[in-house]
Amino acid sequence: MNDCVFCKIIKGDIPAQKVYEGQHVIAFLDIAPTSPGHTLVVPKAHHENLITTPHDVACHCLDAIRKIAPAIVSATGTEGFNIGLNNGQAAGQAVFHTHFHIIPRITNDGLINWPHSKYKPGEAEKMQKLIVHALDSP
Ligand code: AMP
Ligand code: ZN
Repeated sequence: MNDCVFCKIIKGDIPAQKVYEGQHVIAFLDIAPTSPGHTLVVPKAHHENLITTPHDVACHCLDAIRKIAPAIVSATGTEGFNIGLNNGQAAGQAVFHTHFHIIPRITNDGLINWPHSKYKPGEAEKMQKLIVHALDSP
């Protein structure tokens, strides 16, 4: 993809702080980190989002995450990490080349996780049926 910023990083056309490179996946520091060490794990093949990413490519990304995330935690002296993936513009996806965020965390670091709400009576059952139906009739 000519105009994809992550393809340009993969090709070496623009610089990045690369922390890992394997046959199928690279990882580099996010240019605007949520916390120090925030890293993007990116398949070398261009796919727009997680749903259009083939199974084997997605599995390579997950394997890389399981390798890289503990190293980030160790290197940053943190205690845990969030994995994030924004799928679609409405979800905040800005770069349309599949990528996972690894965000190192420490207790009481001030970052706010997703807010929670409550279902009204009957709503959870209705939602469960809708999703099960959608899975049954793709
Ligand atoms: P998303 O909103 O999930 O599409 O995330 C895109 C991420 O890519 C953002 O967190 C950006 O800060 C990051 N980003 C954009 N351009 C670059 C770049 N040239 N090098 C490193 N990270 C980048
Ligand atoms: Zn790309």
